[in-house]
Amino acid sequence: MKKDTTIVNTGRHPEDNHGVVNTPVYHASTILYPSIAAIEEAESKPFEGTRYGRRGTPTTFALEEAMAALENGYRSVAMPSGLSAVTTALFAFLKGGDHLLMVDSVYGPTRRFCERMLRRYGVETTYYDPLIGAGIAELMQPNTKVVFLESPGSLTFEVQDVPAIAAAARAAGAVSIMDNTWATPVFFAPLDHGVDVSVQAATKYVVGHADAMLGMITTTKEVFIPVKRTSMYVGTTVAPDDCYLGLRGLRTLSVRLKRHHETGLTLARWLAARPEVARVLHPALPDCPGHEIWHRDFAGASGLFGIVLDDYSKEAVAAMLDGMEHMGMGYSWGGFESLILANDPAGHRTATPWSETGPSIRIHAGLEDPDDLIGDLEKGFERLNAAS
Ligand SMILES: *Cc1c(COP(=O)(O)O)cnc(C)c1O
Repeated sequence: MKKDTTIVNTGRHPEDNHGVVNTPVYHASTILYPSIAAIEEAESKPFEGTRYGRRGTPTTFALEEAMAALENGYRSVAMPSGLSAVTTALFAFLKGGDHLLMVDSVYGPTRRFCERMLRRYGVETTYYDPLIGAGIAELMQPNTKVVFLESPGSLTFEVQDVPAIAAAARAAGAVSIMDNTWATPVFFAPLDHGVDVSVQAATKYVVGHADAMLGMITTTKEVFIPVKRTSMYVGTTVAPDDCYLGLRGLRTLSVRLKRHHETGLTLARWLAARPEVARVLHPALPDCPGHEIWHRDFAGASGLFGIVLDDYSKEAVAAMLDGMEHMGMGYSWGGFESLILANDPAGHRTATPWSETGPSIRIHAGLEDPDDLIGDLEKGFERLNAAS
């Protein structure tokens, strides 16, 4: 089955739900057993049988089944947020005295978790150059238990050589975990490239409508049990309505992403030709670090990318961004709507300093008509120039 057909069919069981096309929202805490024998039978299969709302309802299981199918994984675990998917996956494989290799361009809150939480539990983190590739082997220590990847990097969009890094991790006996939020399994399936665990902020493209928080962890068969156990021990659970929104979003993920890709690329090319723009950070454009790897490994580029402006003042950038008509300012991305946000990558790096001096801006290309978005940016540049 091709991916688009899987997206439509996976995790749907009309025969179990009165013929209803979508798996309904099952609200539950208590789920009844018919007999003591049924309870005993369930308890003999801890990951399959035991029924309790915290462990999920048929709505949760439908979402987990769908994501495992799309990621080509063994099984998935739904999480209440993308960050909880990241932290649960890390907790699953790390203990005091262990060492973690973390990509330097990682999502800020993932870095904060390493610094403020893992450190307290005696886990040491070394940040590595996102473009290190097979050279990661030299950073491996005897106690390195996890290599964490995110490609492209948050804010700076370097594309990593995932197969090379995952292979080096495996050779050294470490588990590789990749944050696959940007590409989603539609454009890149980490497990097909040697990664052990794929995590996603499904909040972004999977939900796709800016109306729910959701995370997913998908693993190979070999490493599923520690992930599942960790999620059970700490008690994470996802509300069934949010699982439903994840499933609902998933059905159109592929068509939405194609449009995000096209519009993102249209905007990125237009921006690259603007005199105000020093750099465009878009994996599908040749001057993005790691572009040739993106070309080799990814099937598309979604709608999130960055630009670096020439040396404009904070006030000038505010004049531009405050007045945008179609591009909202706010955290998160992956919804149907366009967003624009100023950021500072320099404050988030230690292994590979960020050398750009101009203001850095992240753009999410939504599903609006690209001409309107370009018009909006054009007027924004007029305000930028007028204020400087
Ligand atoms: C947003 C994001 C997360 C966190 O997801 P939440 O659902 O907001 O917790 C993790 N990784 C990346 C790359 C993200 O962009």
